[in-house]
Amino acid sequence: MKYGRKRVLVTGGAGFLGSHLCERLLAEGNDVLCADNFFTGTKDNIAHLLGNPYFELMRHDVTFPLYVEVDEIFNLACPASPIHYQRDPVQTTKTSVHGAINVLGLAKRVNAKIFQASTSEVYGDPEVHPQTEDYRGSVNPIGPRACYDEGKRCAETLFFDYWRQHSLRIKVARIFNTYGPRMHPNDGRVVSNFIVQALQGQDITLYGDGSQTRSFCFVDDLIEGFIRLMNAPDDVTGPINLGNPREMTVRELAEMVVKMVGSKSQIVYRPLPADDPMQRQPNIALAKEKLGWEPKVTLEQGLERTIAYFRNVVG
Ligand code: NAD
Ligand code: UDP
Repeated sequence: MKYGRKRVLVTGGAGFLGSHLCERLLAEGNDVLCADNFFTGTKDNIAHLLGNPYFELMRHDVTFPLYVEVDEIFNLACPASPIHYQRDPVQTTKTSVHGAINVLGLAKRVNAKIFQASTSEVYGDPEVHPQTEDYRGSVNPIGPRACYDEGKRCAETLFFDYWRQHSLRIKVARIFNTYGPRMHPNDGRVVSNFIVQALQGQDITLYGDGSQTRSFCFVDDLIEGFIRLMNAPDDVTGPINLGNPREMTVRELAEMVVKMVGSKSQIVYRPLPADDPMQRQPNIALAKEKLGWEPKVTLEQGLERTIAYFRNVVG
């Protein structure tokens, strides 16, 4: 560590979660290097950080090697929304797999501790409910979501092989649906879609009959989980679920958003996308035990703050 500040690399730092993480790391007095190719992230997300002398922005694609000197790495680079990760599925797999190889190689060279933003999607359309970390998942390896799901699964394999083979200090978080300010308005994810549609008085697009379930975590809670996991003792490698266990149907979410926005939008039905998981809820017992972590922000509070953000962005 140079000059008493930890040097932390955040790949995908200009994205939704990455920008909140950079903010938090700077607030804690770290020297932050944000690497992003702006595939889904934007400079707007981190514009307010650019004046900070301990923040550095680098245009970089993680499918290529990166040579920097850092103490810790958070690897978040990867489009997270189905419409974005399915736009160029080959690139999505490359980002997860080649990206993991490159950042792990970097971590090995500089002996950095390294965090992987994995996902609940490694569980696929789960037969076990709620999902615990020892559940191995039910993923269709050749479906339209596979580029993301299998890419993230392979990245986990690489992390654990670097841990076993090279004694690398690894931290693997399985992130469940997270929402909050700075989600991209055209991201296609359910919370941003519903809020933008409700604010603009457009129809609310409910896929399928809306009986599929998700559990939504507010971004600040998730970032707290990231920091705790990174700072936990080295034997806490994960994989560890981070998410909010409050489960609801997507239809309930639609009704809640319409009510909270005070919108006249109508709910309309659209076909359920292929391989769309029917239910998802994290079991967070491990995060409670190992990190003393659980979400604090209620869905009502989190939606309030997210709606306020989108009011400014889309009117
Ligand atoms: P996001 O799309 O806002 O952010 C991803 C960032 O990665 C963007 O800034 C994008 O430009 C960048 N990126 C993409 N490909 C890249 C590449 N090849 N090289 C460099 N940068 C690249 O998504 P997010 O919600 O902030 O997700 C961040 C991470 O968390 C992702 O790895 C995602 O898989 C994971 N995750 C997110 C959620 C969620 O609900 N938000 C859930 C599970 C996992
Ligand atoms: N969804 C929906 N309407 C939308 C966007 C998404 O009904 O406008 C549904 C989608 O089919 C899925 C759930 O909401 O069942 C969550 O979708 P999202 O893309 O946010 O995340 P993921 O499927 O990856 O959990």
